[in-house]
Amino acid sequence: MKNETTHFGYETVAEQEKARRVAEVFDSVASRYDLMNDLMSGGLHRLWKAFTIQRSGVRPGARVLDVAGGTGDLSLAFAKRVGPQGQVWLTDINNAMLARGRDRLTDKGYMLPVAQCDAEKLPFPDDYFDCVTVAFGLRNMTHKDAAIAEMRRVLRPGGCLLILEFSQVWKPLAPVYDFYSFQIIPRVGKLVTQDADSYRYLSESIRMHPDQESLKQIMEGVGLERVEYFNLALGVVALHRGYKF
Ligand code: SAM
Repeated sequence: MKNETTHFGYETVAEQEKARRVAEVFDSVASRYDLMNDLMSGGLHRLWKAFTIQRSGVRPGARVLDVAGGTGDLSLAFAKRVGPQGQVWLTDINNAMLARGRDRLTDKGYMLPVAQCDAEKLPFPDDYFDCVTVAFGLRNMTHKDAAIAEMRRVLRPGGCLLILEFSQVWKPLAPVYDFYSFQIIPRVGKLVTQDADSYRYLSESIRMHPDQESLKQIMEGVGLERVEYFNLALGVVALHRGYKF
């Protein structure tokens, strides 16, 4: 058997090793994940997620799948939007993140269906969802094209996939952004979670992730159509949207 390798941040690791290493990261940060998101982005991640919801076009009664949904920010916002006739599934590969997400949603009065699953093998039928979203999850996946193809499979014709992810920042901002990512974020991570390495991985994995145009091509390559992207915060983050027809 061929021994395939992939990236784990700047490290090259065997493909079978990546999922375990990613699981260690999210097991370690789950309890402080939401606090760290607010600290690292200065609260901006809330605006990026609100923009994602707004671009989804999701209406009351729709079926939505939140892939790599973690602690459930998008699931919660979609649940409010689709109302009692709709359906929102919170899914993630990691039990610690998912348990936290489920508890948060329950505390806010939303009992959503939850499934622990790998984005590369989704346990849902073909042509089922009106909208599939993945926020800040794709760059952790080993086979991004397989995961995107799987998300397309479960979309109904006319439905859309939204990918919110860190991307390539506007060039003149790169030195400041690099300083912030590699000098400040791991230190804040260490203070808050006692785990600088996980937050170093975060910064490295962002640099290894496909840029805006490359991700658009991957989406088109698996058959998504009318693919476009919106740069947010000068490309720190991009929202990609594509449709299945
Ligand atoms: N979507 C949430 C948000 O925006 O706050 C959580 C994002 S968190 C940075 C990334 C999530 O991706 C983690 O919860 C992790 O467990 C999940 N993840 C990583 N690899 C995955 C995979 N192959 N399938 C499903 N989820 C995965």
